[in-house]
Parts: sequence; C-alpha cells; structure tokens
Amino acid sequence: MQGCIFCRIARHEAVARVVYEDDRIIAFHDRAPKAPTHLLVVPKQHICNLADLKSEDEGLIAHLMLSLDKIARMAGLDNGFRTITNTGPGGRQEVYHLHFHILGGRRLPAL
Ligand code: AMP
Repeated sequence: MQGCIFCRIARHEAVARVVYEDDRIIAFHDRAPKAPTHLLVVPKQHICNLADLKSEDEGLIAHLMLSLDKIARMAGLDNGFRTITNTGPGGRQEVYHLHFHILGGRRLPAL
C-alpha cells in the first residue's frame, strides 16, 4: 500500500534491521524497543490488522504463526518470548499494517 512504512520495509524501500525474510513474511527489529529484544513480524501483503483478515488469508497467517518461535530463536530468545498484536484504536495500534511484536531478553512483567 502506498505510504505504508511496513510495506516499504517489505519491499526494501525503507531501512530496517531485518532478522528473517521469506516470500510471505519479514521480521525486523522495532525502532523503539520496549525490551532487550523487540522484533516485529509482518506479512508482506498489506493487511491492516486482525479485524481486516479474510478467510483466504488463513494460509498466510498460519505460516506467520508457525514462524514466530523460529524467528524468536534466531534472535537469541531460547527461553521463550511474549507476542502482542494491537488491533484498532482500542488496542492503541499505531501502524495499520498487521504485525506481531516479539518481546524478550529479560524477565517480563506479568500481564
Ligand atoms: P503498534 O502499531 O502500536 O503495534 O506499534 C507499532 C510499532 O512499530 C511501534 O513499536 C514502533 O516503534 C514500530 N515502528 C514504527 N515504525 C517503524 C520502523 N520504521 N522501523 C521499525 N519499527 C517501527
């Protein structure tokens, strides 16, 4: 999508510290980390958020979810991690391109 920063990162038009990429997803470090390791895992296809998912996205989302542990381990998170996705204004979503935060690298506060 025109003007979407995560679409631009997915197309390598904007700089990011990429840790993993395949034909459907890309993972990179958050520019304002909230934990020692803070990654964003993003589908290359522009989907606004969980509320924007269609049934035909099932395979893509399954692939993304099945990749999270591998990506976390690639970033050194061998002892587990937290995954967050914010949806809409009620979830304080800032970037309207679906992404999953991976947080770890220290003992996280309980939710
Ligand atoms: P949210 O939409 O609330 O789940 O959060 C969006 C996240 O994207 C924030 O943690 C930002 O720090 C992060 N972010 C925004 N722009 C960039 C960028 N160009 N590169 C890396 N992270 C970004």
